[in-house]
Amino acid sequence: MARTIDPGTREAVLERIRFYRDLGLTEFYRRPVDASMHHVLPDLSASEPDVSNTPGLASETGEFIPQRDSQEDPPIPPRKPISIPPKIASVVPSADRASALQLIRDEIGDCTRCALHSGRNKLVFGDGSPSARLMFVGEGPGADEDAQGLPFVGKAGQLLNNMIAAMGLKREEVYIANVVKCRPPGNRTPEPDEANTCTPFLFRQIDVVRPQVLVALGATAATYLLGQRQPLAGLRGRVHAFRGMHLIVTYHPAYLLRDPRQKKEAWADLQIAMRELGLKSPAKA
Ligand code: SF4
Repeated sequence: MARTIDPGTREAVLERIRFYRDLGLTEFYRRPVDASMHHVLPDLSASEPDVSNTPGLASETGEFIPQRDSQEDPPIPPRKPISIPPKIASVVPSADRASALQLIRDEIGDCTRCALHSGRNKLVFGDGSPSARLMFVGEGPGADEDAQGLPFVGKAGQLLNNMIAAMGLKREEVYIANVVKCRPPGNRTPEPDEANTCTPFLFRQIDVVRPQVLVALGATAATYLLGQRQPLAGLRGRVHAFRGMHLIVTYHPAYLLRDPRQKKEAWADLQIAMRELGLKSPAKA
């Protein structure tokens, strides 16, 4: 009997495959795979030469070469390019930043500019101090955020609050926003056209708040802020110049909940941010 796979897992697998394809890796399955799984995976060799009769591959060794079920698994389209960030806006005086943010919120309105609008309950604009010295950017709202209209209020938000407190700051002293303002279905990664449609508003928020330090939480935030796709490992652990500010890349709190062993690494990243801000660890302050 054919094995099924839930849509969320399938999307996660497809996203991982796209990521590897971006790196130029197209062959993944070197070990025999349960044939009943073949129907759930896309044809990775669609644009590759036909190797089905190549000595040493499936026909002779029994190794798996993915087969496409054209009814269920169309080929994955190539990634759309990341939009070029807008020009840096002029400085908004500190006293006017709250109203400048409100103007952006008003312009977004009851947004239907991308497909994500259809599944949202509440649009999640951003939260925190309009004059924050530190800003965090995540990927997109989850279920709790979608219900409350505020960023990072679920379990990952609680962890982010703890990270902020460990830096010696209060949540209300920082500003928090996301790459997209509406929840992607099943918490999937935003599609490039969705992110490209929404990020101009994010860039405007960043330009208004103009924090000293911006922390990108996870690969999606890093990708759309820096305008380049790179593995997170290559972006962490250093300071990036970004629109006249300093940008640090670290893990998304949701990832840290799944793999708490990486909290130490995330803390090392936050200490870079603290150094840029001239903050000392609370214990050493
Ligand atoms: S994600 Fe952004 S662009 Fe898309 S509908 Fe929501 S606010 Fe509009």
